[in-house]
Amino acid sequence: MAKAVRASLGEMWITCQVCESDRFRERGVKLNSTGGELFNLAWADETATGLICWRCGYVHLFVNREIQLHRVKD
Ligand SMILES: [Zn+2]
Repeated sequence: MAKAVRASLGEMWITCQVCESDRFRERGVKLNSTGGELFNLAWADETATGLICWRCGYVHLFVNREIQLHRVKD
């Protein structure tokens, strides 16, 4: 089973835009991989962090190396 994470950006905790849950499944999205045609954008050599809301499944995609992920223990 996947582990839940919380995510922060500086002093802010990131919450889901839809349901305001603060728990996500983290999935690193490598935009420059062979499967990255979907993200064929100017920043295609960056690595995006995909946060999938644990509760509702909404996907938040960040291209920001400052994102901090924290394992949720429960
Ligand atoms: Zn949600």
